[in-house]
Amino acid sequence: MDPLTGEHVALDLVNTRTADGDLLATADDLRVWLELEAGRVGDGGDWIPGDGDLAAVRSVREDTSALLRALRAGKRPPVAALDGLVEAQRRAPATTVPVWEGDVLSAVRVRAGGPGERLAAALAEAAVEFAGSAELARLRECEAGDCVLLFVPAHPRRRWCSPARCGNRVRVARHYHRHKDV
Ligand SMILES: [Zn+2]
Repeated sequence: MDPLTGEHVALDLVNTRTADGDLLATADDLRVWLELEAGRVGDGGDWIPGDGDLAAVRSVREDTSALLRALRAGKRPPVAALDGLVEAQRRAPATTVPVWEGDVLSAVRVRAGGPGERLAAALAEAAVEFAGSAELARLRECEAGDCVLLFVPAHPRRRWCSPARCGNRVRVARHYHRHKDV
């Protein structure tokens, strides 16, 4: 199954771990996910992530998941998760560099570190920003009993991570149960 994309990047990352399995099990899975997230995550280009990069991203994912699920439960997030997200950002700190080109000065944010470190740092930053934003109050988990995916509904009546993935499936199951005993 393809990863669910299009939510906040922090949620897209957490949602790569579904109830059925891990959609970032290999470095190639990460490469495919980065293609799906092109323009939103990573530097673009034709960088091929390796196992070390995968480990860094998965570590940020686990910390983000622990952070968001604790906050959703009204609990204080685990210190280790918070530390992990800070540490990932420190490995690739960002500097806003003034770039003079032609007659125009632009402010360009540049991260230190290799591509994998920059990716993990950007994801960790996105997670902390989301957790500290007003959006957090609207964070929901899919209502399908066997689904753990997270989303922020654009419409308050949205109940499923996606209609195709869970909405239809739950409706079909309900229909089946209703008619089974007749
Ligand atoms: Zn779902």
